[in-house]
Amino acid sequence: MALKAAEVFSSIQGEGLYAGARQVFLRLSGCNLKCRYCDTPETREAPSVVMVESKPAGGDFYEIANPIAVEMMADILIKIYGRRKLHHSLSITGGEPLLQVDALLKLLPPLREKGVRIYLETNGTLPEAMRRLAPVTDIVAMDIKLETAAGVKVPHEVQRRFIEEARGTDLFLKMVVTAGTDRVEFMDTVQWLAKFAADIPLILQPVTPFGDIRGWLPPHMLITYIDAASEVLESVRAIPQMHKLLGQL
Ligand code: SF4
Repeated sequence: MALKAAEVFSSIQGEGLYAGARQVFLRLSGCNLKCRYCDTPETREAPSVVMVESKPAGGDFYEIANPIAVEMMADILIKIYGRRKLHHSLSITGGEPLLQVDALLKLLPPLREKGVRIYLETNGTLPEAMRRLAPVTDIVAMDIKLETAAGVKVPHEVQRRFIEEARGTDLFLKMVVTAGTDRVEFMDTVQWLAKFAADIPLILQPVTPFGDIRGWLPPHMLITYIDAASEVLESVRAIPQMHKLLGQL
């Protein structure tokens, strides 16, 4: 069994509840969405080679043919993960990792047995795959896509089922907000979340300026979003993409 991947490297988590944590990143290829603000559009198609960092955060990479056998990927990840205290966790990111759930079910259990903590970044659209992967996943960072921000529509029913399947993990939600976010859609979404997921932390992520997105969301707008969500949800924070502020890709 093989994985379609893009890169393996050691860096700093830049988003969400664990921003600032040292992680190894396994970036997989392929996505079932096409978000307007996507900052990894190149991962939608699998490249011919996987870029693998030679030593943690060293910045030198070598190439391995893609797709890559699960066993070989496990060896690479164990090597770069190194001593347990160096990295907080292994981030499985993309693209959308759950598109490759069968390969992940083979890759992750032996890594966990060696003490690797598994952190999954997902767009939250594949609840059945999440059900299968949840027993071998420690932390789940799930996107809640707003149509007026992302330009894609994910039905609430799909997101609700996904949240139920991920609940056994350390789950948090991440919602990107932009200058184009519609306040009515935002309010409808947080009030809908409040009915069954008020206890799950929500991170509001102001979109990072790039391409057609020219500037930061004005702070006063971000504050109104935090305040409105905090009226109905227990834990709401706003955290920008820290890795971009640090000059990392
Ligand atoms: S789900 Fe993530 S990787 Fe896929 S298009 Fe949207 S932002 Fe990009």
